[in-house]
Amino acid sequence: MASTFEDFQFNRQILNAIADAGYTEPTPIQEKAIPPILNGQDVMGIAQTGTGKTAAYVLPIVMKLKYAQGENARCLIIAPTRELAMQIEENINTFTKYTDLRTVVLYGGIGPKTQIENIQKGVDIIVATPGRFMDVYLAGHIFTKPMQILVLDEADKMMDMGFMPQINRILEVVPVKRQNLLFSATMSDKIQQLSYNFLEFPTVVEVTPQATPAQTVSQRLYQVPNLKTKINLLKHLLDDTDDIKKLIIFCKTRVVAEDVYKFLERKLGQEQVKVLHANKGQNTRINSMNSFKNDEVKILVATDVAARGIDVSDVSHVINFDVPVVIEDYVHRIGRTGRAYQSGVAITFAAESEEYYVNKIEKLIRQKITVSPLPEAVFVEETPYEERQAQAKEIDMQKRREDPDFKGAFHEKKTLNKKKKFQAVRAKADPEKAARKFRKKR
Ligand code: AMP
Repeated sequence: MASTFEDFQFNRQILNAIADAGYTEPTPIQEKAIPPILNGQDVMGIAQTGTGKTAAYVLPIVMKLKYAQGENARCLIIAPTRELAMQIEENINTFTKYTDLRTVVLYGGIGPKTQIENIQKGVDIIVATPGRFMDVYLAGHIFTKPMQILVLDEADKMMDMGFMPQINRILEVVPVKRQNLLFSATMSDKIQQLSYNFLEFPTVVEVTPQATPAQTVSQRLYQVPNLKTKINLLKHLLDDTDDIKKLIIFCKTRVVAEDVYKFLERKLGQEQVKVLHANKGQNTRINSMNSFKNDEVKILVATDVAARGIDVSDVSHVINFDVPVVIEDYVHRIGRTGRAYQSGVAITFAAESEEYYVNKIEKLIRQKITVSPLPEAVFVEETPYEERQAQAKEIDMQKRREDPDFKGAFHEKKTLNKKKKFQAVRAKADPEKAARKFRKKR
């Protein structure tokens, strides 16, 4: 089985783009899916987000299409949501950067004018949500005859969202002779049925998420209301724990990583801590990494993206300053501890808006993570207005994700008139002041 990207015999343009993306070796789904896709077979891939499944089909497609040709798309990728369509486009852009291949993404929620103009400039790959694709097709802007490859990504989600009628329409309008790729997080009866209709003698490739943390890792979680309190807790844990030999602090974004790093730099000095995120130059990243690996610094602050593919597993403690939204990252993160040392410790800080992901992680790892009470010495800060708004928005989004009909507080607020909206915002920011004003008026 292949263990490097060179083994797939990708061309130089693709290998360079892979190297730029920082991927050092293929993930299991990539190892399994890339060869049959390159061979022209139909493939059914059972793999969740986070396994590298997008690159598993994007890389061989880019290899097959090679360079821009004609005016019309030769590959169509259908995805359930605008977010996923955009992520797929981003992935394609990463791997086509040394080619002239053209990608257009189509999704609803905005007018189709620019999207249609983009198609008219000439296109090789279309990434689309089902409804918008059919709209643009029916309006006569897509010529499907040259399509050779059709991908249905997150097919299970598309079925759950009721997209089957649109998908059947799409299957009717694309050429019969084509290569089909179907990706789904789960293998259900419905997916099996779809694969009978959609795939011809498919090669089935499957990866089970690496979802069981080592027994040697002790996990605990603190419920922490906001960023400032998270910093206070971090400070407390650093002061109070003497067995921290080597610590990675994982953050969701590079902004947070930078904040945490600055705090630690002030507290401990530059020689104690390094930061690793995608905004840093390649050399800085390599230097940070090496000084952490060689035990010159004890603490590394990192984002998941920057830490991917980096081989450091001998850490004594992992702190998840944020709960990872790609839940599989939790397993990767804490997998870095508990190996070289007899026991590793993984500590997670979770705000209320992150509980949603904690529940998902617990399902994935089939374990409950013990909740520890916040130590009394940790000062609990007020959540600033903006952070509170962001958290409320996040919770709304999670509810909508679970139930597309859910109309959250944010949705309703849009319908308030301007004055009421202003009052509502003020009341939320400073309820007492708003109440005083209200009383005075009366
Ligand atoms: P996906 O499952 O396609 O959503 O990918 C999850 C994440 O893994 C994305 O951030 C990818 O950029 C990243 N990724 C995919 N393949 C690799 C690889 N071979 N090495 C390192 N990171 C990867």
